[in-house]
Amino acid sequence: MTLFFRSEDGKFALRLGAAQVEALLGKCRSAGAFETGGIVAGCYTHNLSVAEVTEVSGPPADSRAGRTWFARGVRGAGEWLGKLWKKKQYYLGEWHFHPSAAPDPSETDIDQMREIASSSGYHCPEPLMLIVGGDSARGYRYRAFVSPRDGLHKELFACDDPFVASSALPSVDTAG
Ligand SMILES: [Zn+2]
Repeated sequence: MTLFFRSEDGKFALRLGAAQVEALLGKCRSAGAFETGGIVAGCYTHNLSVAEVTEVSGPPADSRAGRTWFARGVRGAGEWLGKLWKKKQYYLGEWHFHPSAAPDPSETDIDQMREIASSSGYHCPEPLMLIVGGDSARGYRYRAFVSPRDGLHKELFACDDPFVASSALPSVDTAG
């Protein structure tokens, strides 16, 4: 399964391939009833309108988490991003997990994204935030947001992934 999210105005999109979704869910499963999270890194493709996630980090060692909160640490994150940077993969934003709960952003989540958008340290004026909610028994749900530095926090809505090879699917006549 891949994930694809797009803003209503079509300006921002976020995509995770099947391997990246699996990596993300693996980290959620191993966190159990605790929140977890990390960084999503990748590159902008298709005339820079699609943020393609190529790497998903787990929580840095100095992260702290409870059942309803997560504070991502920084230890090792700079080195991790430095290595990716050499492969032309960059910091795109943050992800975190709401165990057995809805993937709805808290005030803290929104404040964190504003901080990152205005911080010069991240060199990321439009950070993305991906929230995974749920659990393996009932399934997972996802919400994604972008925080433009000079704009409002915007939701990217889940939709069909236009970059999944359509040849893998039986052709269906959708006319009429
Ligand atoms: Zn949250």
